[in-house]
Order: sequence, then C-alpha cells, then structure tokens
Amino acid sequence: MIDKSGQYWHSECADDIDEYLKEYSENPSIDINSVVCRSCGKDIFKLWVDYDEEAIQVECTECGSKKILLDCVDVWEDASPELCKCPVCRKTGSYNVKAGFIRKENHNVKWIYIGNRCTDCGVLGSCLDWKISYEPTDEMENNI
Ligand SMILES: [Zn+2]
Ligand SMILES: [Zn+2]
Repeated sequence: MIDKSGQYWHSECADDIDEYLKEYSENPSIDINSVVCRSCGKDIFKLWVDYDEEAIQVECTECGSKKILLDCVDVWEDASPELCKCPVCRKTGSYNVKAGFIRKENHNVKWIYIGNRCTDCGVLGSCLDWKISYEPTDEMENNI
C-alpha cells in the first residue's frame, strides 16, 4: 500500500517503487528491474550520485560491495559523486533501488529512470533519470 496523502508518497515495500515509476515517468509500460547486490543478494544500498554527469553507483549496506549502474561506467572517471540525501528525513541513509527502462519500438532503451525508496522513512522517489542516445542497449541493461 502506498500512502499518497502527502507531498511525497510513502511505502512500506520496495515493490511499490514500480507504481511510483509508472506514475513519475508517465509511462505505464516502463520496464522495471530490481537492483540486487551481486555479492550477497541483499537489496538495500547507499546511493552515490553525480547529478551533473548523470551517474550513479550503489553501495550495499550489508557487505559494502559497490556497483556503478548501467552505462554510468563510461562517465564515472569524471564524476564527483555525493551521497544521496532523502528529501524528507534528511538522512543519507539507505534505499531500495530499481531501474526503469523506457523502450523504443525496436526494444532498445531510450530513457532510464532510477527509482528509490528510503528505508528509514519509506519515501518513494527518483533520484536520477537520463537519456540514452545509442543502440543496441542490451549489454548496458544487464549492468545492474
Ligand atoms: Zn552485498
Ligand atoms: Zn527518508
């Protein structure tokens, strides 16, 4: 259940990110994929984000493994990432994360939306979205 009564949507459950991203991207057919730690299988992360370079890295709160998501590897060298701060509880805490892909008719991805849920206060959000202007995108998509 999502609590939509306030300025921000709140939820107890990571899967509610799906509904949030459908609404936020205004695209009900957005293809949503969970980000899960490849080392330990947990799904709670700190988020390192460079809003100018449009790049994101997740850091597992369980085992400390870091992963630069999707095609952000290409620009990470130039990035100055900062810890993502929840707009509501103001903690740099931890988040459930999903990657939403808007696809073209030929199935390649044209836009990526990152969906996140603050595990401290439950607020749903999208800390970053960016455009993809190349194809094919299948290799990039697997890098989550
Ligand atoms: Zn881990
Ligand atoms: Zn919060």
